[in-house]
Amino acid sequence: MQEQDNNISAFISGQWKDKDWKKKAASQQKAYARLLQKPDKKKIFKILPALHEEAFSQIDCLRCAACCKNYSPRFKTPDIKRISKHLKLRESVFIDTYLELDNEGDYVVKKSPCPFLGANNRCSIYEVRPSDCERFPYTDEDVLINRPRITLKNSSFCPAVFFVMERLLEAK
Ligand code: SF4
Ligand code: SF4
Repeated sequence: MQEQDNNISAFISGQWKDKDWKKKAASQQKAYARLLQKPDKKKIFKILPALHEEAFSQIDCLRCAACCKNYSPRFKTPDIKRISKHLKLRESVFIDTYLELDNEGDYVVKKSPCPFLGANNRCSIYEVRPSDCERFPYTDEDVLINRPRITLKNSSFCPAVFFVMERLLEAK
């Protein structure tokens, strides 16, 4: 328990870029998987909004950007229309310049880090960013519980998901 507290404190106090929390997250994957296998959904959905708020009151995405640096959102048709318009590009030009199809037939960025990520970790198309980016990391959505595979992966690189999963384990 003490070890767990120390790990959480480490990044709450602004030092969470230390690799320690990632080691903890890696070692907790089985515990998270067990929790997600038989979740007490009623209880979890009741406390999730507060845990989400707690996580993001202490974690600064601008000091992280691990999602934007390493993974791509899906660019769905409404995203492509909105972003192309914002960039004053024809949709076909936008697609040709930035996107490719993945194995599941979704448009994703050709290369990571995302081309819209600025040097200061700010998103240059923040106001019109893809819906996936707006929703990530799903810590205030039922996706967190209903898509265990995604949650486990996200807990390995997103400190907010790690934080929420640790709190959910504590609340069990
Ligand atoms: S990985 Fe998580 S904490 Fe980091 S920038 Fe993305 S959403 Fe924020
Ligand atoms: S569009 Fe913006 S928020 Fe989304 S991955 Fe790229 S830089 Fe990050």
